[in-house]
Amino acid sequence: MSHPLSWIDEELAALKEAGLYTYIRTIESPQGAWLTVDGKRVLNFCSNNYLGLANHPRLVEAARKAMEQYGVGPGAVRTIAGTMTLHVELERRLAEFKGVEAAITFQSGFAANLATIPAIVGREDVIFSDQLNHASIIDGCRLSRATIVAYPHNDVDALEDLIKEHGSKYRRKLIVTDGVFSMDGDIAPLPRLAELAKRYGCILMVDDAHGEGVLGRGGRGIVDHFDLHGVVDIEVGTMSKAFGVMGGVVAGSRRLVEWLRQRGRPFLFSSAMTVPDVAACLAAIDLLEESTELVDRLWDNARYFKAKMQELGFDTGQSETPITPIMLGEAPLAQEFSRRLFEEGVFAMAIGYPTVPKGAARIRVMPSAAHTREDLDFAIRAFEKVGRELGVLVA
Ligand SMILES: *Cc1c(COP(=O)(O)O)cnc(C)c1O
Repeated sequence: MSHPLSWIDEELAALKEAGLYTYIRTIESPQGAWLTVDGKRVLNFCSNNYLGLANHPRLVEAARKAMEQYGVGPGAVRTIAGTMTLHVELERRLAEFKGVEAAITFQSGFAANLATIPAIVGREDVIFSDQLNHASIIDGCRLSRATIVAYPHNDVDALEDLIKEHGSKYRRKLIVTDGVFSMDGDIAPLPRLAELAKRYGCILMVDDAHGEGVLGRGGRGIVDHFDLHGVVDIEVGTMSKAFGVMGGVVAGSRRLVEWLRQRGRPFLFSSAMTVPDVAACLAAIDLLEESTELVDRLWDNARYFKAKMQELGFDTGQSETPITPIMLGEAPLAQEFSRRLFEEGVFAMAIGYPTVPKGAARIRVMPSAAHTREDLDFAIRAFEKVGRELGVLVA
């Protein structure tokens, strides 16, 4: 008899055959504009380290100092003995930064979604969820056991029809959306979603993982970007992207945060953020509050790169943010493109199904504030060379 797990070999072989197998590269240097990967120095176009904070001296120093004072680990879940002065301080600062009454932190953005959605809705409720929402939202929805109605991506009219059709049959109604969609870089139509939420009595939740530190005044996020303070009920964020560290946050009313402290399962059953993470996040907020320089540089770089790529004839999709997809179509072409870019000294990942729909494979470029103009020009030349070689650019 074959081993009960032998089916995995066949599944893995099928993934490789389809160009959908993820080869994971190992980084031998700190995060930054340039990385050492597999012994080679390459320009980094993959990470979510939008502002270059992952290796920022102020964050490193804050983490070091905090470890000297508090050690490394939290020792327990928050409710038992894991809440330290630092955690309380971070939540206070995050609430202030986001312009909300209160905030609660989690180990990650993923955990924040898994904590929040099942605490807010259950079996008797319905969730209206954008078709392209992040996996952690989808999993949070599933865990809640609520009825899930997926609506066509960013289609507010279709959503309204679905709310009219299904809404009245349930106790509570939740509309949940990514703020910035991570694979396309487009932005949720939050003002119109807020109108719908108000009209039909829905709870409105936005996951601003890619908007935190990117959108809004000084990187205060999508709610600030649209000036919807007090209108969006639940704002999820992550400190693992622009903040350059690790950790999740939910920002909103005092009552929401109080409820999540009682009922958020990853809060109750998984240990707190670590000391260096919390201290580094506090330093990230300091930096963001002191100056908009990094956020401004991120946007300058993104605009420059996108314009140059479009001039060359690349299809950059629907992006409205620094996330720049280079649309290529089939997954094997995207993988080959990424492999050739790497040889040319540019590290940019191919993304295919199931992360994006079949036939919509792409290279996703993440420009950052850490890149210089010379870095971007270097990358643009590499994209042009490989694009011509592989027939993506004609003429
Ligand atoms: C990256 C991401 C997450 C997960 O954040 P982590 O802090 O890395 O767990 C959640 N939601 C969205 C929309 C994301 O893009």
